[in-house]
Amino acid sequence: MTDGPSYGFDTLQIHAGARPDPATGARQTPIYQTTAFVFRDAEHAAALFNLQEVGYIYSRLTNPTVSVLQERIATLEGGVGAVCCSSGHAAQIMALFPLMGPGKNVVVSTRLYGGTVTQFSHTIKRFGWSATFVDFDDLDAVKAAIDDNTRAVFCESIANPGGYITDLPAIAKIADAAGIPLIVDNTSATPYLCRPIEHGATLVVHSLTKYLTGNGTVTGGAVVDSGKFDWSANDKFPSLAAPEPAYHGLKFHETFGPLAFTFHGIAVGLRDLGMTLNPQAAHYTLLGTETLSLRMQKHVENAMEVATWLEKHPAVEAVTYAGLPSSPYNKRVKSICPKGAGALFTVALKGGYNACIKLVDSLEIFSHVANLGDARSLVIHSASTTHRQLTKEQQVAAGAAPNVVRFSIGIEDAADLIADLDQALARASA
Ligand SMILES: *Cc1c(COP(=O)(O)O)cnc(C)c1O
Repeated sequence: MTDGPSYGFDTLQIHAGARPDPATGARQTPIYQTTAFVFRDAEHAAALFNLQEVGYIYSRLTNPTVSVLQERIATLEGGVGAVCCSSGHAAQIMALFPLMGPGKNVVVSTRLYGGTVTQFSHTIKRFGWSATFVDFDDLDAVKAAIDDNTRAVFCESIANPGGYITDLPAIAKIADAAGIPLIVDNTSATPYLCRPIEHGATLVVHSLTKYLTGNGTVTGGAVVDSGKFDWSANDKFPSLAAPEPAYHGLKFHETFGPLAFTFHGIAVGLRDLGMTLNPQAAHYTLLGTETLSLRMQKHVENAMEVATWLEKHPAVEAVTYAGLPSSPYNKRVKSICPKGAGALFTVALKGGYNACIKLVDSLEIFSHVANLGDARSLVIHSASTTHRQLTKEQQVAAGAAPNVVRFSIGIEDAADLIADLDQALARASA
């Protein structure tokens, strides 16, 4: 397909980045299951290694199947480039890697995917990095948390576990004023529901594992660059603005302009950290993206129906879905996620911990798994699983109190999901 910025989302989710295979005419993007690519001659090899010519060397860095997916995701997000990697967690490290260094910090929202909280509170300290956790509804607190060593601000668009909506333009303004990029994890929303770059984000990260693949088959991630950040405006980002010692002194920003972050992500990030997406996984995700808008419409429709029904159920104390008029985030949905509030929310049960356990064990269509964004409806009792190691106070702060279950609503028949919940709630409150 020729580049057509005027094409609609439904067209781009099928065609962006792809063209019939030049060698065979294959209409679907082939899986280039190869580690290395033959150089035309020694001069071609040298040009590739000097980044003077773009092409394929070795699949840890670039692979044609993965490249199609990178271009597709960048297009759907409205970015200039994307780097795919081995998981959503890898994407977070890949996003931070060019920005951070020993002694530097990132200001992050308290409302994050459980694994991200762990990665940011403990694991990144091994690199000498740190994270400062703040309630992102308190804009003054976000501002106050940024200091001279802060290199990025990080949040989720639709945030875990309750499906809260982050005020992205307000957070972007704070990051801008501090001269640092805003990184938004857009996994729970997908570019169909929310396009963070349009709200001022510099970088967007994804777990491809969730809605983008859409059927629980792949572990993958992506970092999308808006191409809008001026890495040379201050001296905070030497990896991008100053000579990069890891690439014989190349100045990425000066050389590649708006593609600096993407080139650095491939030439240094993937080359040295090796968190590469394999071509088979890229293929599954390409298939998934083709139906993204259709699936997200149904996810949102079902989530609204199920959440509305649950809110009226006598065994239910509260439902956090931002699509409900009762949610404090309902007004924000219209500006940040105009096509719907996603399909992720938590439900507090009057019967407490025991009722939650009984509910989870009684559901038949819903699967009890530590995942989200599958075509199947999923449920998890966070307090006894993913948030088990936290104190009760921490569980409550994380939106994972003992009387709370988290739902990821799938694309089955809503009536069947409601019937399943009805029988399970009856057993849970018996
Ligand atoms: C799943 C998830 C991640 C981590 O992604 P993996 O692919 O499991 O590494 C990060 N952020 C959010 C919002 C997620 O849902």
